[in-house]
Amino acid sequence: MGDRSASGLAGASGAASASGLAGVAGAPGTPGISVRQLTKTYGRFRALHRVDMEVAPGTFLALFGPNGAGKSTLLGIIAGLVRPSRGQVFLDGEQITKDRDEDLGKRIGALSYQTYLYDELTVLENLRFYGRLFGVENREDRIGSLLHTVGMEARSGSPVRTLSRGMRQRVALARALLHDPDILLLDEPYTGLDQDALVMLKTVLADRKKTILLVTHDLVRGLESADRVAILNRGRLVYEAETSELSPADFEQTYRDHAM
Ligand code: ADP
Repeated sequence: MGDRSASGLAGASGAASASGLAGVAGAPGTPGISVRQLTKTYGRFRALHRVDMEVAPGTFLALFGPNGAGKSTLLGIIAGLVRPSRGQVFLDGEQITKDRDEDLGKRIGALSYQTYLYDELTVLENLRFYGRLFGVENREDRIGSLLHTVGMEARSGSPVRTLSRGMRQRVALARALLHDPDILLLDEPYTGLDQDALVMLKTVLADRKKTILLVTHDLVRGLESADRVAILNRGRLVYEAETSELSPADFEQTYRDHAM
């Protein structure tokens, strides 16, 4: 069954609040995503510790790290779904951790293990619903074009519950791109995708008009697509580099050195 079958409504409100982040452009040249001294504690446990991170506008950062490193927590805070304990997040110069402008989320497209799709609705109905929620103009054209991009035109009339994991991931990607967000937050987007879909995703991610933060365990794919890579371990950012400086073999060694 689908990711959100029983709790579909929770999914929608989550998506709406994830999208609840905003539309004020920062000063030219200010970073797309800027994270300063971000700390998150759960009780006594520190999931993130004084993380500083920048993703410049129109660049792509791939973030790696072992299970439990704090990657999803970091993405959740940037998406406005998780409240930080200390520190700040700026999106295009706007401090989202201070003043939550409800429109800010319209600039973010998020893809995570939760697809935020309604199982009982068809692919098309889901995209129409989110299109209305995001106030997408020329909705039908936009939806048609995205269904083509993700290769799901033939299944547009199928209820989401009847789709395979990879097909749902394709539709979830269309949902995340629907409102043409400037910022994409992607948590393990490769999961379940077949070879064609991987090629499609790579093309989508090559769009440098967007600022992209991607979390993955796939060192090779992350390295080949991103401009920069970073490693988070035990809540700390322990490594950052330009991908042009790295070969896959070097990076695998670097990862082993920093993530164990
Ligand atoms: P990653 O995405 O890198 O695997 P997470 O950000 O999901 O890591 O989790 C980081 C740490 O924070 C883990 O030890 C996890 O158990 C803990 N954690 C995450 N969410 C919660 C929560 N809601 N309550 C308590 N602990 C949490």
